[in-house]
Amino acid sequence: MNGSSEIRGFYKLSVEERMNLVRELTGLSDEEAGVISKTGGLPVDVADRMVENVIGGITIPMGIATNFRINGKDYLVPMALEEPSVVAAASNAAKMARSKGGFTVTNTGPVMIGQIQVVGAPNPQQAVRVLERRKQEVLKAANEQDPVLVSLGGGAKDMTAKVVKSTRGPMVVAELLVNTGDAMGANAVNTMAEAVAPLIEEQTGGEVFLRIISNLADRRLVRARATFDKKAMGGDEAVDGVLCAYAFADADAHRCATHNKGIMNGVIAVAIACGQDTRALEAGAHSYASRSGSYKPLTTWERNSEGDLVGTLEMPMAVGLVGGAARTHPAAKAAVKILGVKTAIELAEVMGAVGLAQNFAALRALATEGIQAGHMKLHARSMAITAGAEGKLVDAIAAKMIEEKKIRFDRAKEILAELRKS
Ligand code: NAD
Repeated sequence: MNGSSEIRGFYKLSVEERMNLVRELTGLSDEEAGVISKTGGLPVDVADRMVENVIGGITIPMGIATNFRINGKDYLVPMALEEPSVVAAASNAAKMARSKGGFTVTNTGPVMIGQIQVVGAPNPQQAVRVLERRKQEVLKAANEQDPVLVSLGGGAKDMTAKVVKSTRGPMVVAELLVNTGDAMGANAVNTMAEAVAPLIEEQTGGEVFLRIISNLADRRLVRARATFDKKAMGGDEAVDGVLCAYAFADADAHRCATHNKGIMNGVIAVAIACGQDTRALEAGAHSYASRSGSYKPLTTWERNSEGDLVGTLEMPMAVGLVGGAARTHPAAKAAVKILGVKTAIELAEVMGAVGLAQNFAALRALATEGIQAGHMKLHARSMAITAGAEGKLVDAIAAKMIEEKKIRFDRAKEILAELRKS
């Protein structure tokens, strides 16, 4: 950039003024600025109120995964992401589960944890006992913050307390358990945690520092299960392949990271489409995967007595339909309508099913033909676009690279040059 990144009052400018300034500093062309300025289905004034220092937006594709049958109901699943093959893989996996009844998903209810950290309590163990004895006072104070949530049957339902050993000595941590209903609940829980802090200081004799939601949402789990037809998935050998892949992930963290990443391909794509907090979901998933002290798969795989493959998934799923972008982003609202979910729990259950489907698809592909065969066509197309191709040239270059079995950037450039010459 030409100049300093220290820009006073950048936030006070209009979206257009900010973009003009960024253009001056970075040499963005009319065309480049134009694509960022087009915010698609998101009105620019809404974008400007969602985050800070807005200059525009970025659109990513939304596809629809078909064939999903979850708890006896059919769904068209909107998935928004930039990665090829994921939507096709989910649809294909859902088809193989469908013939065996589809996905069965249960949940533990929408309970989030708000942590209140107390430092310097004169007697930490005694403080824990006082907090437990006087928790009704704290719950009452917490619930006074959110009469709407309470009127809907939610609110702070319980509180636990513990002593946490830390490098700065023992700390007392109170944990509010809040039923957040159809909200993801971060704002609701944080507001409660802040409000009860003075009362907790009084009860413990210590000083409160942090008052914040935990994204390890292990009181808000979904459990999904599905049977995948042995014949449809490629026979005994394919079932063995998936079991072998699962055993590898269970035994090795480097493999397990990619195993769980495959699950999140599905979960996060639905989350983006439906305006969810994807960082909260990722944090929840990976911290839950590590709960035993070693990093483990979020799914399990086994063979049933008929020889079919049975998968289960268990993971936190903190999602909401009120609050956050699910309410403010018009495209997210439309995606929720396509999905047809009526409650946050139903959305969480669908996302659990999609996560399981995605894991199945990836393991099956890896254990049989390898992942690249499925990726090849889309990969070749994006390679052609990266090399500068447009319109019909994209398909022509992709087809040639597939034929030559050489899907490489340098080759895409060469073919593009040849085609342009001719
Ligand atoms: P919110 O505060 O906008 O909405 C929740 C409120 O809506 C409730 O408190 C309740 O008063 C009301 N409500 C109306 N109908 C309801 C219903 N049927 N069920 C439940 N509540 C109902 O949103 P939120 O869900 O509390 O917070 C979500 C936002 O917080 C997200 O945008 C997230 O990104 C952000 N956030 C996340 C973190 C984190 O660590 N994950 C931290 C801070 C903020």
